[in-house]
Amino acid sequence: MMTKMTILAAALTVAAALGQHPRASHASAVAAQSAERVSGAAAYEITKQFLAVAPKRFNGSPGHAAAERFLQEQFAPEIRDHRFEQDSFTASTPAGLQTMHNYIVKYQGRKDGIIVLGSHYETNYPLKDIAFVGANDGAATSALLIELGRYLRAHPPQGYSVWLCFFDGEEAVKSWSAQDSTYGSRHLAAKWSQDGTLPKIKALLLADMIGDKHLDIDHDANSNPQLYDLLRTAAKNTNHLGALSTDNTPIEDDTVPFAQRGVPVLDIIDYDYGPHDATHPDGYHHTAEDTIDKISAQSLQTSADLFVEMIRLIDQR
Ligand SMILES: [Zn+2]
Repeated sequence: MMTKMTILAAALTVAAALGQHPRASHASAVAAQSAERVSGAAAYEITKQFLAVAPKRFNGSPGHAAAERFLQEQFAPEIRDHRFEQDSFTASTPAGLQTMHNYIVKYQGRKDGIIVLGSHYETNYPLKDIAFVGANDGAATSALLIELGRYLRAHPPQGYSVWLCFFDGEEAVKSWSAQDSTYGSRHLAAKWSQDGTLPKIKALLLADMIGDKHLDIDHDANSNPQLYDLLRTAAKNTNHLGALSTDNTPIEDDTVPFAQRGVPVLDIIDYDYGPHDATHPDGYHHTAEDTIDKISAQSLQTSADLFVEMIRLIDQR
């Protein structure tokens, strides 16, 4: 995602081997443990597994394909039950045509309407030549959605249906603009406009960069004000008001294509990531420093609590 002041800090050229990685072995054990509540520790473990299998996930890379396989493995029960959709499309980018895939996982609720929870899973294409793994930027939030899915599998929604949405192609391929960014969400918003899904969406909540050890969630000025008020209530109810920052910045993210089509959206994002200095004007954001040690199970627990409480509050409206 981007704000206007973002600068791509592509300085290092580290030749990272994209070799085969062993498949995560204890995924099912984690799943068994985590069904009773949405666990930040489990989400942290899934982040580690995801990064081991697919450290670099830029468009068209073997790591991107590995990331897709990882997502498919996590949702084997939903694939079996036809609650897992692959939305494939070809995007026209500054680097030519690229095949992209969004994934949607559906948990049927009792009320008419849908709450969509989103995250992007790929890594930044312009950073393909540095050791950029996006632990916080893509991996941790995808893991958070996977962990939410494990919970929803065991505890189907009692209110609105909940759909998990793993967006592809969020990052710019060359430099951020309305045309060169959010490929997956733009495609899906258009598709859901055509097929009549959009009016059923009560809220789209996006998770972005909220594994940050020093969690301070922005007040995104491009998000729906009522949903932001609800986030404040959720933070109060779960004792996490300290995780909300007062920064009020318009943020361009996978929320925008849906907001433009009238969907109430909320970007739950912590844009302020790591210390800032002259060589790192955006801190760890879009640098080789965005690694697993910069995120924490505790922050993922806070984020998980906020998402669960947001679902509860939206169900009550
Ligand atoms: Zn990013």
